[in-house]
Amino acid sequence: MQLYDVIIVGGGPCGLAAGIEATKAGLSHLILEMGSLTESIRQYPRRMRFFSTAENIEIGGLPFAISDVKAGRNEALQYYRKAAAYYHLNFKLFQEVWDVRKDGDVFTVTTKTGDRYQAHKVVMATGYFTRPRWLNIPGEDLPHVSHYYDEPFKYSFTNVVIIGASNSAVEAALELYRHDVNVTIVHRGEDFRKTVKYWLVPDVKNRVKEGRIKTVFDSCVTQIDEHHITTINIKTGEEAHIPADFVFILTGYIPDAELLQRCGIDLDPETQVPVYDKETFETNVPGLYVCGTVLAGIYTEKVFIENGREHAQAIIDHIMGREVHKVAELIQRI
Ligand SMILES: Cc1cc2nc3c(=O)[nH]c(=O)nc-3n(C[C@H](O)[C@H](O)[C@H](O)COP(=O)(O)OP(=O)(O)OC[C@H]3O[C@@H](n4cnc5c(N)ncnc54)[C@H](O)[C@@H]3O)c2cc1C
Repeated sequence: MQLYDVIIVGGGPCGLAAGIEATKAGLSHLILEMGSLTESIRQYPRRMRFFSTAENIEIGGLPFAISDVKAGRNEALQYYRKAAAYYHLNFKLFQEVWDVRKDGDVFTVTTKTGDRYQAHKVVMATGYFTRPRWLNIPGEDLPHVSHYYDEPFKYSFTNVVIIGASNSAVEAALELYRHDVNVTIVHRGEDFRKTVKYWLVPDVKNRVKEGRIKTVFDSCVTQIDEHHITTINIKTGEEAHIPADFVFILTGYIPDAELLQRCGIDLDPETQVPVYDKETFETNVPGLYVCGTVLAGIYTEKVFIENGREHAQAIIDHIMGREVHKVAELIQRI
């Protein structure tokens, strides 16, 4: 079995950045990815646009040249694929890693299907997008219910319920409303989340005022049926039934805590933030690192491509025994 210098688990922007830094340092590497390359971005809404400017989500010093200021999903998919090809990154796709074990100085990485790979160091860059926050209510697994919003045309002239009031929920609601969808937003809070991008707030609030997008606030969904959802108002206890041909549960995602624990990484029981060194990103398991959004625990909004891509350089510096690149202050808050 080949013994790599570094195995990187996860082929998102931050995992690719780690592969690039390893290549630049002359380290042999293997990236194991459970889906396609940049699988999370592939799963993003088809017409989404990044909030970051293109240069802020570049990796490996490769210019992300587009005619606009901010990239869309397809442009990002093209860019990261080109970056992977340019640096001749070594990856195996559709390989879901199940655990990572250390024996002496060697890590064995085992996939769900039992394939095994070995390396001196391992970088976990598994992000958070594979794990939606489940509501654990009856009907959540019905075929017309999804935790991932895709595109608007499929839903024109139907009733769609969106559960959640964050950025993703608001963006989906606005896009659907503009494609002749009867949209209702259900949220347990009394208003949209404070983290909704400021430029979306007047748009969505005005549509609500006009009655073009409906909101059911202060309410939890208790059940999803084939054509309706049932809500209960948490202040009055009143029950309501809302027509729903399709339901999007956009209540966020969270890093795979069980995977990290199976690999021997300790997590804060409340925040699920892994134990790691804030400068080197090495976890409590020597030689095992966390990189990108996976280290955010429940604070997934605090680590994104812009800051997460920087972890890679610090990690490879540490592996190489070089002076460690200092990552921006923002990342140190967790
Ligand atoms: C709609 C939307 C818009 C966004 N816009 C921006 C933006 O404008 N700017 C910005 O900086 N950030 C943005 N983000 C956040 C950003 O996309 C993520 O923070 C970023 O993808 C994190 O990169 P990552 O490499 O850490 O994780 P990911 O991109 O999630 O990559 C992790 C990879 O690991 C794989 N994986 C998971 N588990 C395993 C396993 N067990 N075995 C093998 N592979 C595994 C996954 O399939 C995935 O491909 C946005 C997010 C969303 C949802």
